[in-house]
Amino acid sequence: MKLIFEKGKKGRRGSSLPKMDVPTKNAVPEKFKRKQAANLPEVSEQDVVRHYTLLSRKNMGVDTNFYPLGSCTMKYNPKVNERVASLPGFTELHPLLPQLRRGGALTQGALEVIYETQRLLCELLGFSDCTVQPLAGAHGELTGVMLMAAYHKGRKDHARKVLLIPDAAHGTNPASAMVGGFITQTVASDDNGNVDIEDLKSHLGPDTAGLMLTCPNTLGLFDPNIEEICELVHKAGGLNYCDGANQNAVMGRVTPGTIGFDVMHVNIHKSFSTPHGGGGPGSGPVLVGECLVPYLPVSRVQKRDDGTYTLRYHCADSIGYIAPFYGNFGIILRAYAYMLTLGREGLKRVGENAVLSANYMRVKLAPYFDQQVDRPCMHECVLSATPQAKKGVHALDIAKALIDRGFHPPTMYFPLIVPEALMIEPTETESKETLDEFIEALIEIVNLVDTDPESIIACPLTTPIKRLDETLAARKPNLADV
Ligand SMILES: *Cc1c(COP(=O)(O)O)cnc(C)c1O
Repeated sequence: MKLIFEKGKKGRRGSSLPKMDVPTKNAVPEKFKRKQAANLPEVSEQDVVRHYTLLSRKNMGVDTNFYPLGSCTMKYNPKVNERVASLPGFTELHPLLPQLRRGGALTQGALEVIYETQRLLCELLGFSDCTVQPLAGAHGELTGVMLMAAYHKGRKDHARKVLLIPDAAHGTNPASAMVGGFITQTVASDDNGNVDIEDLKSHLGPDTAGLMLTCPNTLGLFDPNIEEICELVHKAGGLNYCDGANQNAVMGRVTPGTIGFDVMHVNIHKSFSTPHGGGGPGSGPVLVGECLVPYLPVSRVQKRDDGTYTLRYHCADSIGYIAPFYGNFGIILRAYAYMLTLGREGLKRVGENAVLSANYMRVKLAPYFDQQVDRPCMHECVLSATPQAKKGVHALDIAKALIDRGFHPPTMYFPLIVPEALMIEPTETESKETLDEFIEALIEIVNLVDTDPESIIACPLTTPIKRLDETLAARKPNLADV
């Protein structure tokens, strides 16, 4: 592809501006003026449009291809919610506009959206209160961990410094615990992919601050002993944190707040209508049970008896600010629209269909890959390409071969406890036909491992760039050389 810089021709223009009718003399102070003209490509409008349209077509996204990236929930997101989020009544608000009537009540609608989103999430997940301020899942974790620390500190229980984290937790959990000032200890999984209860017991003691459990976990499994686990931690004086980024698998069926969890976060930028990808923006609302309500961050939206909404900034025990203003409002708005349009039954069906799709995938592909545990999964299934790896074709090669067949690869080499992992999350929004095409592509690739492994190792052949040195690409990206 020819770069736009090479396409230029001296004097070619894509714009025509009217003659200047304001004084330009001294408009820009001398020190800010360029000494030399910028070396910009001189191109026509059509050149520019074609350049960007071609670039956009090189992007693989949910709007163009099946995107089964496990743990990230890359599903089709209703476009109507994008419309809602771009209504000028919301987008043209300034966060410092006055809250109440005196100022014309311009922000009452936005405050109502925040209040109602928090209320709906509390109801859906079984908690007493919620903050929508955290700006990502990991940020929600940090907030939750800070709430747990504030709780123990409030009780002068200073010895509780250890957060227990199962080995099937998401990688951000131990990182958030450390940033929050805790020491982490790993709890092992048993042969069925559940928390090893005996190992958990051996870690519990007077230094236990709590347990951080990803539920469903990164093997896509729901731990059937969850109530017993939560009770053990409570008895030892700890609190239970639920990483609920995968809550879409069980929402409407399980209310973590009523089975022993004291605090949780959900990733509404993955499963509540905002696509996850490209590094943000995100939103990780945190929900808490009664015992943690006093510590929630400020500001807090409140509904007054006369039906108006205000922000409260002074709460004596609050952990304080965790984000400027009120969170990523556009994402909160999409989640609100999503919950209202689907309703109670619709939200339940999201989980049902996501689980059905993942298990369809799991069962159809079981004969071709290894599976750590042979039991129904939730929203994602984890396959292991160890049989192929023994023949010299690895999970990475299979992923590259999928690109040539028009699919975004699944998550690879995660969770860490599964060798050669391929973590597939088909989501609830794909048709059976699409799932079948993906399954057939994987079977074709697996068959080629025996007959023509070189053809897999050579993939991808259809992309502008073949295989990158991934470390170099992350550390020293070269975005211009195509
Ligand atoms: C994505 C994810 C996170 C982290 O969320 P970010 O928004 O990427 O910070 C945490 N836990 C689980 C289970 C996740 O899938």
